[in-house]
Amino acid sequence: MQQLLLLATAVSFCLFTGCATTRVNSTATMNFASNNVIAHRGAFKKNGFPENSIASLREAIRLGCAGSEFDVRMTADEILVVNHDPHHGGMDIESSTYAQLRSHLLSNGEELPTLETYLKAGIQANKATRLVLEIKPSPAGMERGQLLAQRVWEQVKKSKAARWVEYISFDFAILTKLRALDAKVITHYLNGDKSPADLKTAGIQGLDYNYKVYQQNPQWIADAKAMGLLLNVWTVNESTQLKWCISQGFDFITTNEPEYLLQLKDR
Ligand code: MG
Repeated sequence: MQQLLLLATAVSFCLFTGCATTRVNSTATMNFASNNVIAHRGAFKKNGFPENSIASLREAIRLGCAGSEFDVRMTADEILVVNHDPHHGGMDIESSTYAQLRSHLLSNGEELPTLETYLKAGIQANKATRLVLEIKPSPAGMERGQLLAQRVWEQVKKSKAARWVEYISFDFAILTKLRALDAKVITHYLNGDKSPADLKTAGIQGLDYNYKVYQQNPQWIADAKAMGLLLNVWTVNESTQLKWCISQGFDFITTNEPEYLLQLKDR
């Protein structure tokens, strides 16, 4: 009986310590901020940084935002770059080489960031801020969009940044491609034309819609919560709208005013 008791105690101890170790290993040192602030294209506005620059990413991390959003496209020579618009310095990104594009600097002197450089900066000394990676639909069509999804996923893996990254896209097929590549990725859909039930069925974890979509479909907020989906909203900058989003209990609010929203959350 005493031996059995000792064995049970040892098993309990191992299970307990085993769980603790697993928890530490699985989340490794990640400790995401508990606020709901996603800096849209980084925290660029207040300090006059270029949107989607490494400076704006670092500022979002310095502020302790729960996430920093950025946009990814692919050049003609299949280099992944971080830029919102389909053009940079008057050049079309998809039909220009990276060598051509990098010759035009951002307004703060940075080169057009590659995804590799951006991820490297994003995981450096950062345990609190998610990297919210938007894959832009390709103007060349769905096939290139699928290639883009594949290349982005490969780069995130190569950069060992998967624990920081959540994916967003207006292109539903890009998100389903990511899910097919890796069942562990976290994806959020941006386009506002699918119900929470549609997303749940497709294995998409979150809806990230314009705030007007939620105001037109208020039931989607309750439905998303009931289904355990992540609830995100973009791009909310005005005080009244920000307060409305806070009152609705969104998990994340994407904003050009992260400093203001952080301050609202502190009150
Ligand atoms: Mg974006």
